Amino acid sequence: MAVTIAVLKERLSGETRVATTPETVKKYAALGAAVIIEAGAGEGSSIPDSEYAAAGARIVKSAAEALKTADIVIKVRAPDAKETAALKKGAIVVALMDAYNNGAAVSALAKAGASAYAMEFVPRITRAQVMDALSSQANLAGYRSVIEAAAAFGKGMPMMMTAAGTVAAAKVFVMGVGVAGLQAIATARRLGAVVTATDVRPATKEQVESLGAKFTAVEDEEFKNAQTAGGYAKPMSAEYQAKQAALVTEHIKKQDIVITTALIPGRKAPILVSAAQVASMKPGSVIVDLAIEQGGNVDGAVLGKTAVTKNGVIILGSPNLPGRIAADASNLYGRNLLAFVGLLIKDGKIAPDAEDEILKAAMLTSGGKVVHPNLSPNTPAQAGAQPAAKKAPAAKAAPAKKPAGAKAAPKPAATAKQTPVAAKPKAVAKPKAAAPAKAAAPAKKTPPKKK
Ligand code: NAD
Repeated sequence: MAVTIAVLKERLSGETRVATTPETVKKYAALGAAVIIEAGAGEGSSIPDSEYAAAGARIVKSAAEALKTADIVIKVRAPDAKETAALKKGAIVVALMDAYNNGAAVSALAKAGASAYAMEFVPRITRAQVMDALSSQANLAGYRSVIEAAAAFGKGMPMMMTAAGTVAAAKVFVMGVGVAGLQAIATARRLGAVVTATDVRPATKEQVESLGAKFTAVEDEEFKNAQTAGGYAKPMSAEYQAKQAALVTEHIKKQDIVITTALIPGRKAPILVSAAQVASMKPGSVIVDLAIEQGGNVDGAVLGKTAVTKNGVIILGSPNLPGRIAADASNLYGRNLLAFVGLLIKDGKIAPDAEDEILKAAMLTSGGKVVHPNLSPNTPAQAGAQPAAKKAPAAKAAPAKKPAGAKAAPKPAATAKQTPVAAKPKAVAKPKAAAPAKAAAPAKKTPPKKK
């Protein structure tokens, strides 16, 4: 009997993405798998049921019906309690589990006897690039952050010389130059903005400059060693942070748009912009805090809200920006999942290779237990590796323009158990040196250095 894969409607409020597209439905058939889709699953990504059916999927009315026979369940977000309870015994579940913050869901999957895999734990090795959902989604989030900022900004982005006078180019400052930051720089440059960017990893300087933006950072001894062997940022010392804050204070008051993307895997996002720095900006300036779901980089950002400060600075705290470009986000994520599921199926049967380093790194539960080394067994102990986004004291929160996309941010954690989590971030394997360039490649192809 063919392997059966179920695709459910996402139940988290505001989650518009879906785990498969008609294109990938056809490819699953080539792997020897039949796809069952819960009716309406593609609605948020503008994919009608009829397109899935035309690609060969079977449409069913409810999640329970889809789950009854499913060997593999693919999702965007972790399954909720009802979905987990409806899983067939021994089913495999693959999703962006947000495992550090979803202890209860991971624990429930273990108890249900499911083998759960977290797409966010896929290691960033060359072979797994096609499955790198963090990158595929961060890239779109970076793009979308600039579009959201431009829409909220009451002025133009490019310099325009008109008969009535000149419109100045917007000044955009990108803080944190990982995958999302690089795409934000590239997008802001395409729109004609004058872009500066900062990061604590020295490797980013050349990447920023290659996109035609200017690099601004405290380049001291600590900066030279701020990248871990895995390619991520280290938490910086209080002394460095003070120097960084002084530099940001001078720079930020001249900026029109600030986009923050700084993350430290497994920890709360660092605060990079203080309330005083926000207060120094001009009225009408816009800040987009892309790190809001991990606690936020900006003092005054509120999860799911547009906050307007007393001095008229607009702070966008929208979660799930990839969900605002859902058709493309689902397309890319669907392909990430297809590649991952390809590791689970051999000759038309479920046959995961227990020694595969990608599967080992992504596996959360097996044999009724939580097995990932960064998670404590018998969860829900690790719930909340990152604290909730704060409420803005000085800012007036207005409702988000669109429905808030994600769940409320997790509660503060900092238990002894989480320390090893932070020390062993995200993935078990290390990224290869060549890979980051590839991840940044689409951004690098943007019109460089024209002025
Ligand atoms: P991330 O989401 O973990 O963090 C975003 C950025 O914030 C990073 O560039 C980080 O250095 C920066 N940051 C952290 N603290 C900061 C601070 N105090 N001030 C300023 N900036 C700060 O990053 P990411 O997008 O996941 O990328 C992390 C690394 O992984 C990069 O080296 C990237 O090139 C690499 N990568 C590798 C692959 C691959 O090998 N397949 C794919 C994607 C990314």
